[in-house]
Formats: sequence, C-alpha cells, structure tokens
Amino acid sequence: MEEKARDTLIELKHIKKVFEDGVTVIEDLSLEVKKGEFVTLLGPSGCGKTTILRMIGGFEKPTSGELLLNGKDISSLPPNERPINTVFQKYALFPHLNVYDNIAFGLKLKGLDKKTQEEKVKKVLDMVDLAGFEKRSISTLSGGQQQRIAIARAIVNEPEVLLLDESLSALDYKMRKEMQLELKEMHRKLGITFIFVTHDQEEALTMSDKVVVMSDGDIQQVGTPEDIYNEPANLFVADFIGASNIFKGKMVGKKQVEFGGTVFECVDDYDVDTLIDAVVRPEDVEITEAGKGQLEGEVLTCDFKGIFYVTNVKTDRAEVEIHNLKSFRTGDRVGLNIAPDSIHIIPYDTSINHYEGRLDRLLPGRGFMIVFEDFTLQDIPYSAIYPGAREADEGHELLDEKGQEISWQGAGVVVSFLPEDAVLSDDPEAGFVTGNIFNFIYMDDHYRYRVRSESEEDYIVNDEYLWNHGDHVSISVPMEKLHFERK
Ligand code: ADP
Ligand code: MG
Repeated sequence: MEEKARDTLIELKHIKKVFEDGVTVIEDLSLEVKKGEFVTLLGPSGCGKTTILRMIGGFEKPTSGELLLNGKDISSLPPNERPINTVFQKYALFPHLNVYDNIAFGLKLKGLDKKTQEEKVKKVLDMVDLAGFEKRSISTLSGGQQQRIAIARAIVNEPEVLLLDESLSALDYKMRKEMQLELKEMHRKLGITFIFVTHDQEEALTMSDKVVVMSDGDIQQVGTPEDIYNEPANLFVADFIGASNIFKGKMVGKKQVEFGGTVFECVDDYDVDTLIDAVVRPEDVEITEAGKGQLEGEVLTCDFKGIFYVTNVKTDRAEVEIHNLKSFRTGDRVGLNIAPDSIHIIPYDTSINHYEGRLDRLLPGRGFMIVFEDFTLQDIPYSAIYPGAREADEGHELLDEKGQEISWQGAGVVVSFLPEDAVLSDDPEAGFVTGNIFNFIYMDDHYRYRVRSESEEDYIVNDEYLWNHGDHVSISVPMEKLHFERK
C-alpha cells in the first residue's frame, strides 16, 4: 500500500517528563504525527501513554523538550487554546445536564449564538448515531451511548486533533468491537487526526494507520500494524503484539540459523555465529507426521479456541505453540516445519548487560577491585584487563609483559555478560547486584527477565525458573563468563 505524503502536524522532540515526586516517567521521547493520521499509542499499563496524551492536550507540561503543532511550540498554551480535544477514559460527562447541554457546553463558553449551537449539536449527534437524544438525561444512557456523547462533545468543537485515552476500555467486548468500527468510520468522515491510546494490541492493530509501541516511557517501534506484527523490532514488541514462539539461537551459515537443535533456512542474512532470537508466529508452524518434520515432538495440549486450535508441542529442546484448524490428541507424536520466510530473526542487542566502572585498587595476590555504579567486583585477574600483566612490589604496582609499569589507577572498564550466563537467586547475598523483576518473556525453554536495580539500571537474565513481576532477586555470573574491556 502506498503511503500518502502527508504533512507533519504534531512533533514531540526530546520530551522529558519528571513528575513533582521526582520520578522520571519519560526520559527522551520523540514522535511525529501526520495530518489526518490515526495513530495509536500501545503499551502496558504504566508505560506513559496517558502522560504523553496529557502533554499533547495541555494538561501536563513537559519538563524539557519541544512540543510543536504545525511547526509552532505549543507547550505553554493552555488546553482550551489548543485545537485539540480529549475524550477521557472516564467519560467525564456532566450528570446533571442533559445530552444537549453536555455537548453544547463548549459552544456556549465560546459564545456562539443559539442557532449555530443547535445546528452543530444536531450534526454531531447524527455523526455518533444518537439523533433525537437531545433531551435525554445522562443517567439513562448505556455505557456505549455515554461514550458516543463524550466523543460528540469533543468533536463538536471541530478540533484538528482528537485525543482518545482508552476510550473503549470500559465497554463490553461486543460493544467495543462495534465502537472500534464506528470510530474508524468517524475518523474517515471527519478527516482529522486521531491519537488513540490503548493497552490492547488487537484494538491497536485493527484501528490504526500507525502504531507506536511503548514500554517504560520509551518508544520500542513505530510502524504500520503489518510492520509491527510481521517485523517486530525487538523481543518486547514480538511478545507484546501477540502470541509468538521465541527461540534462542545463532547464525550458522549464509541465511542459515540454528535453534531448537535444528538448522533452518531463513531469509535474513547475518554473520555466522551472531547470537539471535528467532520469532515464529504460532500460525506459521506446520504440523506434519512424525518423522517428516524439521522438529519432532509430542503434543502436550490441544484446545479449541472457537475458530482455530491451539496446540502445544514439546520437542526435546523447546515448547512450541501452533495455531491451525486441526485437532490433535495429547501424546500424539508429530513433526513440525517452519518455512524460511516465517522465521523472523532479531540479532542480540549487543549493548545489553554492559556496565561502566573504574579500576579502584589492587588487592595484593588476588586481582583488581573494580567499582561500578551498582556493584563492586573483586579479585578480577589482572590479565582480564591488561593481558599479560602481573603484580610486583607486593601488590604496589602492576607490570606489563615487558616489565613496564602500567598506570591503571582510575582507568575506565566496561564489564559485560550474556543473559544466558547469568543466574538469579532469591538470596540477596548470592549475586553481585540485586534488583526487582521488571518484566519477562517466555522463550523456547526458559524465561528472559529484565531486572531493574535501585539505581534504575537494567539487567537481562535468562533463567529456566518462573519468577514473578516485582520479585527481589540477586544476579550472579561466573567469573569466566564476565567479559572486560578497557574504555
Ligand atoms: P499509562 O497511561 O501508559 O498507563 P501513565 O502515563 O498514566 O501510564 O503513567 C506512567 C507512569 O507515570 C506511572 O508509573 C504513573 O504512576 C506515573 N504517574 C502518572 N501521573 C503521575 C503524577 N501526577 N505524579 C507522579 N507520577 C505519575
Ligand atoms: Mg493511561
């Protein structure tokens, strides 16, 4: 589909938001919204969606950064001077006013004459399919009808931008589906820009021109619904956007990848030995006869979901979820095939688990003590930092291979490790650093955890055991798995 060239309407440039309590909710966020677009901010609860919407609407001020509308900074304009209207999560209708007065409220404030007011109210009531409801009191309306009145009240001001914050979340499933279609239709008819917020991935994918996937105050990916679904930029997006099989593996040849104990042809090309995660959608795994698959396994469960079956197959190295139209019995032996273009490869983010520190002192006969922001490492062999180095003068100096003194004091060092080389423990003394489980993803035969320390550093750890969000854990890594580099 060809994207129409559209002008930029709203621009957020390096927006930072720190609330009065000192918590930084958004560190550095940039986003462009084009004229007439239907943009959805999608992410789990608490990731900052409402905060962004409130800044655009004028109910919160960014701590720093620019907020532009048609190229002009609007960050100090009050809400009523912005050509922007908001439909809040709670509809915030006036319960003591009837439908007409609720919708006409803003028009009265603007001092429009009675006749114009009536015309405008009638027009938007038609638009939301509630013609003739003028005299009804709010309390006699269903949730869906109240939602429509809230939308009518916002669009009656003819804003350039309509902000909708989880506006459909309070509706039941059937009503929500209906309102999704109606909102899309309204967007088409009005031709204005919609910025919609939801934590529901299906809602985001069905409604939007552009989806902005967020986590923890950061944008993870911006793209069309198809982009986001088919080409997730990272594991967070892959996991959040829908059921996925995520395998840990590595490249073993030209467009050849190994995971689950098998080599697969794929369509992405990365250097041999690159560590990767392979994302495979459950509907892209084919179940075949035992002996005829790239993977072999046993059916653990098979559940009918109304339109398709969800089958879980255990191979000797992984658990694989498959969606298809066939039913299987627990214990059936089956083969599994995955076509090259169904394997989406995400190379390891090489910047994860890298921490900067300083060489602090020599521990005579033992090694370096290195101080990092969150932790201190002791007894680090000199040769891990300076190959061939040895201690001299009873630990008072360090010499290189040629016997020259090394000036190491205060030198910068980066330590790094792979997620699979780290181990979690509930004993705070067991590891070198502690933190709380912040989020996790189920992978082929383990979980991948994000652990956040008190100073808000993140650590990524693969672990086969199930921990819960919020668990306090310590992280340890065997010395030989720590990688050091001088800065
Ligand atoms: P979302 O809409 O994605 O669920 P919010 O934008 O409401 O997320 O909140 C993001 C984070 O900011 C949350 O951790 C929330 O507790 C915090 N937060 C929101 N409003 C305030 C406020 N007025 N003061 C302090 N923290 C806030
Ligand atoms: Mg919210």
